[in-house]
Amino acid sequence: MNTPSPLSLLEELVRIDSRSPGLLAAPVPPGAATEEALARHLAGLLAAHGFLHELQWAAPGRPNLVAWSRAWDHARPALAFEAHLDTVGSDGMTHPPLEPRIQAGRLYARGACDTKGTMAAMLAAIIRLSVEATPINLVFIGSCAEETGCEGIGHVDLARFGGAQLPVIVGEPTELRTVTGHKAHAWFEWAIRGRAAHGSVPETGDNAIVKMTRVIQALEVFAAGPLRAVPVPAGFTPPTLSIGVIRGGVKENVVPDYCSIQVDLRLMPGQDPAAVIADAAAFAEAQAGIRPETTWIRHIPVLATPPDSPLLQAMTAACVETGTPATTAIVNFCTDAGVLQERGHDTLVFGPGSILRAHGSEEYLELDQLDRAAEILALAARRLGGPE
Ligand SMILES: [Zn+2]
Repeated sequence: MNTPSPLSLLEELVRIDSRSPGLLAAPVPPGAATEEALARHLAGLLAAHGFLHELQWAAPGRPNLVAWSRAWDHARPALAFEAHLDTVGSDGMTHPPLEPRIQAGRLYARGACDTKGTMAAMLAAIIRLSVEATPINLVFIGSCAEETGCEGIGHVDLARFGGAQLPVIVGEPTELRTVTGHKAHAWFEWAIRGRAAHGSVPETGDNAIVKMTRVIQALEVFAAGPLRAVPVPAGFTPPTLSIGVIRGGVKENVVPDYCSIQVDLRLMPGQDPAAVIADAAAFAEAQAGIRPETTWIRHIPVLATPPDSPLLQAMTAACVETGTPATTAIVNFCTDAGVLQERGHDTLVFGPGSILRAHGSEEYLELDQLDRAAEILALAARRLGGPE
């Protein structure tokens, strides 16, 4: 049986519009693309190569795809490949987003790099392994709503494969480096309440914006001091905090009774985001005499793959075998791997292309990395499968 090349798969994948329609909680706008068309296309492709599948719905129109070897043998090891189905939007792109263009060894399209390139490499490897009857059970997971903050992976059910027993390679552009760590990502909102009054008699009100300025100053002191007063594991950079949004006030002549900020917090292994936010609130109260009300927005857990991970060892050996530098890396972006590791999975992140080429007005993938990625993934699976 012919096995499709990574390039032909990538061309096929980028033509299917899966630009994110937004947060899972928001209804899909009429006529907008979702992950569904791509999930169904992949299900058909994998079915033709001996895979069963299930669409696991995270929200209406927003499926995760889980596909697995039909000839599942419980005596054999298993390995999962995971890649997100959604891409970011294409406003302002300088080339057609959905029509692949190949030039100077690169393929240009939205998602070429993030992360349909990895997905194509994974599918090529999976199909090749199935045709060769490699003694390993294979799973492919296509997650939805990753670009809005790794929302979809939380709705993926892997219980039928032994749950956390299943090792998972998460696909993202890592330039063929094996990514073994990233920070946790936590977003939260702080609100301050005051009392409204006419702007001509401000002393009769309680200005929430003015109070918030004191809280912000305290938070900046916290960010520069207590937040960073923790040991930094090798390869990681210290935790950070950034105030990204401020809202408050209705009119020039009304003393505002409400002000809120939204904060982006990046933490290291061992730091509990809820505890850090509580510490920050206690610090603000002690410094500014004001205790903000906290609303949790979103959290993506940390990734820290242990050095003795069997998956990491298989990937390292596969890189060496192909002459690829077996480098591990800690990255600044968050991935579905954090969520999977929190659930107990042996996981890491790997893929062709650079994250610097993702999300921009120009997106492309280096085709030599695409073929190499497929080769490395197949070799890692063969190593985990062991001799027949
Ligand atoms: Zn991505």
